[in-house]
Amino acid sequence: MKKLLLFALFFLLAENLFPQTSLQEIKPLIGISCSHPENNFSSARRTYTESVLKAGGLPILVPIIETEEDLARIISMLDGLILIGGEDVHPSYYNEEPIEELGDVNDIRDVYDLALIRLAADRKLPTFGICRGEQLINVAFGGSLYQDIPSQYEDTSVEHNQKVPSKYPTHYIDLLPGSIIATVTGETELVTNSHHHQAVKDVAPGFRVTAWSCDGIPEAIESSTGLPVWGVQFHPEAHTINGDSIMIRFFEFMTGQAVLYRNQK
Ligand code: MN
Repeated sequence: MKKLLLFALFFLLAENLFPQTSLQEIKPLIGISCSHPENNFSSARRTYTESVLKAGGLPILVPIIETEEDLARIISMLDGLILIGGEDVHPSYYNEEPIEELGDVNDIRDVYDLALIRLAADRKLPTFGICRGEQLINVAFGGSLYQDIPSQYEDTSVEHNQKVPSKYPTHYIDLLPGSIIATVTGETELVTNSHHHQAVKDVAPGFRVTAWSCDGIPEAIESSTGLPVWGVQFHPEAHTINGDSIMIRFFEFMTGQAVLYRNQK
């Protein structure tokens, strides 16, 4: 009888343990938002997909779809989400008229990206925004942007729209101690690339700025209410792909968060 009980206990444990063990061996599914060239393609640079692969995740491109119901279904299958760089966000989303210096916008992509952020937040899906992705997170939660730093920001000592390729870092940023970006990198400052003429102006309610370039421009934000949502103004994937051993940690952090999220699903 004791033996029988032991066997029963063993099978009960095995039932519960093995599915989890095998789940952990499966790479977490990291959705990557797409750009929309010529309003005719859904695409993402290889640097994004390779960075996720390098960090142990499985990248999957989320196509540009206008039906929110379909996007919701896709989001429900993911363990994490990365929002990539691209065009300017239309200022109507933060209640401003466009200024002359505003760059290209993509209306369909704005709707798609903002829907992705909202749907991901509803599920508390780990979300990481890069460049435009970071700006969109700020706008989605009620913040605003500089439409054009050179014409709207007094201090022009930092060149935020670098001419050299993105694998070259061009300016320093200071990190807020205790923030995600500081904890993940273990650093107090980083040297980053910079390909933007817009930036976070008023940070969204429920978020905080966690990095600044020396001119005071925000270079990273994160949720201050425990939502697993954050973003950076630079392009870590361009450094990661060239072997940067610090910026790969942003993607490893994402895959780690994604595994935790999946195991709690
Ligand atoms: Mn910058």
